[in-house]
Amino acid sequence: MKSCYIDIHCHFERCSGKEAIARAQQAGVGIICTQGTDGETNAQSLVLAHTFPEVKACMGLYPIIALEMTDIEIEVLLKDIRTHARDSIAIGEVGMDFKDDITQHARQKEIFTKVVRLAQELDKPLIVHSRKAELACIELLEELEAKKVIMHCFCGKWSLAQRIIANGWYLTVPTSVTRSEQFQRYAKELPLTQLFCETDAPYLHPDKTVTTLSNEPAYVIASYEAIARLRGMKLTDVRDQLFANYQTLCAKR
Ligand SMILES: [Zn+2]
Repeated sequence: MKSCYIDIHCHFERCSGKEAIARAQQAGVGIICTQGTDGETNAQSLVLAHTFPEVKACMGLYPIIALEMTDIEIEVLLKDIRTHARDSIAIGEVGMDFKDDITQHARQKEIFTKVVRLAQELDKPLIVHSRKAELACIELLEELEAKKVIMHCFCGKWSLAQRIIANGWYLTVPTSVTRSEQFQRYAKELPLTQLFCETDAPYLHPDKTVTTLSNEPAYVIASYEAIARLRGMKLTDVRDQLFANYQTLCAKR
């Protein structure tokens, strides 16, 4: 496959379908990894991947949604991921979230452990959400010896970002890099061989004056531009390295 720009994490079912695809094509974005967060969006993810060749399905279980599910419902969802393993490229969006008053940390760990074990069984990368649970996610993933990990929109300390890199995992530069010093530092200093770019569309629009949820995969170029500018590299060279990362981690074998 020819090199192209990649949006490694978005919620494409919430973007404007055909028009968003046309704008992505125009921008040279040829791979769009849409995330599933529950049974319904996992199914949508598969349909979108069948509909648009650019879209790659990920199937997951969002940590806060998981807290409202019974063990049996979780088993059914994980079984569904296993059944469709050949049609998906990664297990995402998954992880843990300790924001606000969410106190069920032990339950989240129990569920995330099942998810990680499934990803290992299927030999798929995990696309991990870790809001306010950065260290807990890293520790659990280390304990379970997870190898294929993409930490999405990681907001932990710089020392934890370095620990992620030392573990051989990946970090993303989201489109909000335009206004985030932390993501600018990732773009500038972390090894290019362990980076991806993402929009998290419809969230994280690169233009902070845009307050509607209208980010979309075409705008992932803003992340690539930040990396190229901060490193003094050619945009196409950044594109080619991140494409190689994708081939290494996600491409079907
Ligand atoms: Zn997301």
